Amino acid sequence: MKQIALYGKGGIGKSTTSANLSAALSEKKLDILQIGCDPKHDSTRMLMRGEWIPTVLDLIRENGEKNLTTEDIVHKGYNNIRCVEAGGPEPGIGCAGRGIIATFQLLEKLKALYGDIIVYDVLGDVVCGGFAMPMREGYAQEVYLVTSGDFMALYAANNICKAIARLSKRSKNRCRLAGVICNSANIEGERELVEEFARSINSEMIAFIPRSKTVRVSEVNKRTVLEYAPESEQAEVYRELADKIINNRPAADKTPTPLEMDELEDLALRYIKA
Ligand code: ADP
Ligand code: SF4
Ligand code: MG
Repeated sequence: MKQIALYGKGGIGKSTTSANLSAALSEKKLDILQIGCDPKHDSTRMLMRGEWIPTVLDLIRENGEKNLTTEDIVHKGYNNIRCVEAGGPEPGIGCAGRGIIATFQLLEKLKALYGDIIVYDVLGDVVCGGFAMPMREGYAQEVYLVTSGDFMALYAANNICKAIARLSKRSKNRCRLAGVICNSANIEGERELVEEFARSINSEMIAFIPRSKTVRVSEVNKRTVLEYAPESEQAEVYRELADKIINNRPAADKTPTPLEMDELEDLALRYIKA
């Protein structure tokens, strides 16, 4: 079983990429479980044809953990992809990270944490103990950073990289930086910038996903690109990403080297010009 996580800044395209990746993987007859670990809880919506599935945290609050079954929390979407949303705390109180922990514990208890590939879609703006939990506890074994050439997206990716560098040394099931995915924001020089960022942190850019109208059109039709526009160029991009990820075997001894703030600023300055 391969357990991969997509981490990145909010709004960067983690859920879009995760859902299309899962759909592309499912075309290969692989059994896929996608777990949304973002309080926004829309990770699996396109796989569920627009349906907002109940979140694990809401279900626990309403019914109590003991009364929940696998059918309550795991929902079958496109191509039988199993979909779960951890959900978020009640506004003003509670911890989103605890929701992720509660979700994983419940899935383990119900023996529902299985499949050929598990895709964790995790918010990476705050790399606190809560959101780092999938890496710390050995769930997120291969971590992909989703970024664009936007400075704040790179800043978030670099912070996640710092967490991986720290955690990979001490966790039992070493989590590894598996690569950088550039989800384009149509910024000039973006490909080169993200490629160099990836090299600087001792990784590589494994995919460049163009900004595409097909994504938006599929989204308003409540489908992944793979389902709504299977013949499109964009669908092919996600299929190539799926192949890369299946065949990727990140080396255990390759430790990420996050940048210092001034190095990151210098890097951006070289590529982002007036
Ligand atoms: P995140 O999960 O990181 O918060 P989303 O996947 O929800 O981000 O994406 C935010 C918005 O950007 C969505 O409306 C989505 O349709 C759009 N988007 C993401 N990737 C692309 C892309 N490659 N081309 C066009 N629009 C995209
Ligand atoms: Fe929020 Fe993270 Fe603190 Fe939990 S651990 S309250 S998710 S900042
Ligand atoms: Mg999301």
